Amino acid sequence: MSSDVTADVVVVGAGIVGCAIARALAGTHLTVTLVEARDDVGDGTSKANTALLHTGFDATPDTLESRLVARGYDLLGAYAEQTGIPVERTGAMLVAWTEEEADALPGLMVKAERNGYRDCGLVQTEEIYRRVPDLGPGALAGLTVPGESIICTWTTNLALATDAVARGAILLRGARVTGATVGPEHTTLHTTRGDVRGRWVINAAGLGADLLDAEFGHQRFTVTPRRGELLVFDKLARPMVPVIVLAVPSSRGKGVLVSPTIYGNVMVGPTSENLTDRTATGTSESGFEFLVSKGRALMPALFDEEITATYAGLRAASDHDDYLIDVDAAARYLLVGGIRSTGLTSGMAVAEYVTGLLAEAGVDVTERDGLPPPPRMPNIGEVGVRPYQDAERVADDPEYGRIVCFCERVSAGEIRDAFASPIPPADLDGLRRRTRVMNGRCQGFYCGAHTAQLLAAGTAR
Ligand SMILES: Cc1cc2nc3c(=O)[nH]c(=O)nc-3n(C[C@H](O)[C@H](O)[C@H](O)COP(=O)(O)OP(=O)(O)OC[C@H]3O[C@@H](n4cnc5c(N)ncnc54)[C@H](O)[C@@H]3O)c2cc1C
Repeated sequence: MSSDVTADVVVVGAGIVGCAIARALAGTHLTVTLVEARDDVGDGTSKANTALLHTGFDATPDTLESRLVARGYDLLGAYAEQTGIPVERTGAMLVAWTEEEADALPGLMVKAERNGYRDCGLVQTEEIYRRVPDLGPGALAGLTVPGESIICTWTTNLALATDAVARGAILLRGARVTGATVGPEHTTLHTTRGDVRGRWVINAAGLGADLLDAEFGHQRFTVTPRRGELLVFDKLARPMVPVIVLAVPSSRGKGVLVSPTIYGNVMVGPTSENLTDRTATGTSESGFEFLVSKGRALMPALFDEEITATYAGLRAASDHDDYLIDVDAAARYLLVGGIRSTGLTSGMAVAEYVTGLLAEAGVDVTERDGLPPPPRMPNIGEVGVRPYQDAERVADDPEYGRIVCFCERVSAGEIRDAFASPIPPADLDGLRRRTRVMNGRCQGFYCGAHTAQLLAAGTAR
C-alpha cells in the first residue's frame, strides 16, 4: 500500500497521545496521516492502565509533566463532557499508615499547591474511616484530593481517534514503521504496509519511541518497559470503595492504590517492575502475591469478594526525569517520548503543546473553520444510562434489549453499532474495549461463542 501522496504530518502511534495529536492537527489546514503498528487504535499502553484522571497534585513541580497533567486534566474533563467519555468524580484519599507517612502529608499539600492544585485537605483518623469504613485498621492520617477522578481510558482513545478521522486524518492500522529516509522535502517512512510520506513526522510511538528516534539519527534516551500489574474485583466489592484510596508516595514510587473502576468494579495495583521485554504484558505469580498481601492490609474485607481478572500494562519509562518532547527542525521531526504514568490525563495537553512547537517552527497551525462536532461516544460506564436501561431506546430498537453479555449487560445493538462505527474493531479485544462484552465475572464463559459469531459476521461486513 505505498502512496504518492505526501501528508503534511505523519503521526506514528495511535495511543492516546498520538490520537490526541492527530486530532489537534487535523483541526488545522494540515493533512494528517496516523500510522499504527497494531490492528487497532489504543491497543498499547493506553488500554491497560489504572484509568485515573489525575489532578497532578503529586507531580514534581516545575516539570513539563506537571504542567501538562494539570492542563490535560481540564482539557480531557471538558472533552469528556462533550463526547460522553465516562468520568466519575469520586475524589481520592491519600492514607498514611506510619508516623513517617503522616509527617509527609503537610509537605504533599504544599507540593500540590506548587502544582496549582489547592483543594487538598488534611483529615484525622475518624474522618478517614467515616469516608471509607472498610479500610483496614491502622490508618493514622489522610489527605483528601477531591478532584482525582476515574475515567474510561478505552473510550478516551477511541473518541480522540474517531474525532481525528472525522476531521479528515487518514488512519493506517497494521502498519509498523520499520525505518525512515529523511529527504530535503519530505520523509519516507517504511512500514509493513508500504511507504508513507510526510513533510513532518511526529513520533508518539510509546514503548517504541526510542527505536524510531534512532531512525532519525538520535541516541538520546532508552525506553524501559515498567510493568504495572493489577487485580480486578467483582462488582459486589464496589460499595466498599467510594473513593480512590492512594498510598503516600515514597522514593520507591506511588505505591499500591485501591480504586473503583468506571465499569463498577474495584481494582488493586499497580506493581512497578522494570523489564527488558517490551511485549511482556502478561501477569506474574509474584505480582499477584505482592498485590494480595498489600491489598489485604489496605482493605481486608475486599478479599471476601472474588478477584475476577488480572491485567498488566507497560509504562514507557525512560532515563529522563520528565517528558521528552523535542523538535528537530532540520529533519522536520518531533519526538514525544517518555510519557510514562500520566499520559491518559495529559494526552490532550501534550497535543496542544506539540501544536505550539510546530507553530514556533514555522508551521501554520491556524484552526480551520467548519470543523465537525466532536463525536458522541457510546456510554460503557456505570455512571450514565446504559442502552439496556433506556426503555424508550429499547422500544425504538429492540436490539438494545437483546442482551449478549449478561455479566456486563451488553446488548446486540451495541455490538452492531461498534462494527458500524468509523473505526470498527478488528478482533475480540477491540470489541471488548468498545462494548465491555466478555469483560464480566464469567470472562466470556457464557457469551464467548455468541460473541465470536457476532465478531465473524461483523468483520466480514
Ligand atoms: C500500570 C499503568 C498505570 C497507569 N495509570 C495511569 C493513570 O491512572 N492515569 C494516567 O493519566 N496515565 C496512566 N498511565 C500512563 C498512560 O497509560 C500512558 O502514559 C499513556 O497510555 C501513553 O500513551 P501513548 O499514546 O504515549 O502510548 P501507547 O498507548 O503505548 O501508544 C503508542 C502506540 O505506538 C505504536 N507503535 C509503537 N511503535 C510503532 C512503530 N514502529 N510503528 C507504528 N506504530 C508504533 C504502538 O503499537 C502503540 O499503539 C498508566 C500506565 C500504566 C502502564
